Amino acid sequence: MRILVLSDIHSNYTALETVLKDAGAVDAIWCLGDLVGYGPDPNLVVETIRQQPNLLCLKGNHDAAVSSEMGLDTFNGDARISLLWQRRMLTAENLEFLRPLPSLLKLEKVTLSHGSPRDPLWEYILNTFTARISFEFFETPICFVGHSHIQSAYLQDPNTHSITPVILRPGQAQSLREGRWILNPGSVGQPRDRDPRAAYALFDPEALTWEPRRVVYDVAEVQERIRKLGLPIKHALRLAEGW
Ligand code: ZN
Repeated sequence: MRILVLSDIHSNYTALETVLKDAGAVDAIWCLGDLVGYGPDPNLVVETIRQQPNLLCLKGNHDAAVSSEMGLDTFNGDARISLLWQRRMLTAENLEFLRPLPSLLKLEKVTLSHGSPRDPLWEYILNTFTARISFEFFETPICFVGHSHIQSAYLQDPNTHSITPVILRPGQAQSLREGRWILNPGSVGQPRDRDPRAAYALFDPEALTWEPRRVVYDVAEVQERIRKLGLPIKHALRLAEGW
């Protein structure tokens, strides 16, 4: 069984389309949120995700911001400009799709959260310290998170309960049978781990394996559209370097 796990598409349809093609046939799609924000294609991304069969979809902080009356003060200036533009652009149907989404879901073996299981909308798991706290806030053996835009894995040792960051190579499947895991598939539309390729992962809930993946997409084409729309130039520049 193949489940496509993706996160932080951020209105980058070119990257999303490339990821869907690269993943090939899958049995389900689990999206960890932040469909919108930053990029040029909010409607196209939400419509494409909505149409996927066997979809589980979380709401990220950017999705919450556009689909509610939430003040945008917590976002930095450039992120706020994009969010205001997207709030205006998104159709009523797409906003209605985003609004009721949960930001945390508990399944049999896996907990899904946008940020962390402690604070699903806002907390970043960026190091062993936050990973250690996060392991206390879910009961399943596995937790998938997004939000940091960094493809990463943390393992809790079944005996000592110590936490280690694990470097997984894209394209290689990791068994999840031993210990407990926090796994981040990385960001489809705005990677921040200095690798500009779109990031995602394949999860097999029967074999219990996780395979992080990276795929090259047409960054220049997305940058051009961000420029043409007059959206903040920083959001175009960062795509080429992955920050
Ligand atoms: Zn994000």
